Amino acid sequence: MSSDKKLKPETLAISAGRPVPVPDGELNTPIALNSTFHAGGPIGYGRYGNETWTALEDAISALEGGETLVFASGQAAATAIFNLLPIGAPVVLSDEGYQGIAALLKGFHESGRLEVRFVEATNTAAVLEAAKGAALLWLESPTNPALENVDLKTIIAGAKKLGVGVAVDNTLATPLTQKPLEFGADFVMHSVTKYFAGHSDIILGSVSTNDPALYKRLGDVRKLSGAIPGPFEVWLALRGIRTFPLRFRAAEANAKELAKRLAGHAKVSKVRYPGFGGMISFELTCDAAGTDLVTQSAKIITNTTSLGGIESMWERRRRWATESHKISESLIRFSVGCEDVDDLWDDITASLGKI
Ligand SMILES: *Cc1c(COP(=O)(O)O)cnc(C)c1O
Repeated sequence: MSSDKKLKPETLAISAGRPVPVPDGELNTPIALNSTFHAGGPIGYGRYGNETWTALEDAISALEGGETLVFASGQAAATAIFNLLPIGAPVVLSDEGYQGIAALLKGFHESGRLEVRFVEATNTAAVLEAAKGAALLWLESPTNPALENVDLKTIIAGAKKLGVGVAVDNTLATPLTQKPLEFGADFVMHSVTKYFAGHSDIILGSVSTNDPALYKRLGDVRKLSGAIPGPFEVWLALRGIRTFPLRFRAAEANAKELAKRLAGHAKVSKVRYPGFGGMISFELTCDAAGTDLVTQSAKIITNTTSLGGIESMWERRRRWATESHKISESLIRFSVGCEDVDDLWDDITASLGKI
């Protein structure tokens, strides 16, 4: 059941994707464990559809717009989009975006599957120049982990004039900040693993689109590639998405305060905060080893990759060999959680005290 899209996201996250109310009917969608169905209905087989998937898809569609398909992971969701492109199709990608997508596309480029062009996403004119003749423009804003804002509205409008398809990875910003389908994007992708599910316990992805033909083709890719999610993981994400707006706002309030405090700390040389959301990247006055000491010293904030969990986590991004060398060795990407802000600050200052 799709909810009224005029309702606020705080309401939609709670009310969308529930069974039709009937006396003694279930309030919550169950975990539907079936590999097959009695003949004659619209689903037919467990790889083609599932009641629990549909409930989460309705909830994500209510928040992001369009129609949604859930996938086994964010990477599987992105791969499904790339699967729609013909062999050798040119794809334009930000050189400061999620490393998993960049690595996937680099592999496709090397094998000749796609032709990948990297571009600086904060340079709107350069993006539109690179997009000429491309099949797909892949965007992420803010950039990751530099957290620079990209002018999505202008770039998407320009790309549409050029006849270029646009996909936006909206994992970091979430629909509480921006809804790229409203700017004209063809696809919005999420790592549902992050803010939507929110508890760092499952891996899941989604794609939303306003175009019924693209929705049908993506559905066929999911069916035939088999990149389907497990109903239990989907059910956990559905439970998680009920509190997504509450968690996101709480994390955002903490992040706004901590970004301010970090900017005044003597060991911090630069704070990157896009002005919204729960992600902060900051650079230290010390080297990589000193930065590792800081990230390993925290008692509440965990030294982990990933983001969007209710728990605060941080990491030195350059500990990954695949991270862009434009990113400073001392940059810490901090996914601010929902703990008490003063407890977090005490943890940060004690950790910074080690260097
Ligand atoms: C984590 C992440 C992905 C990949 O999603 P998985 O669920 O880990 O497969 C893609 N984009 C962004 C921005 C992410 O943070």
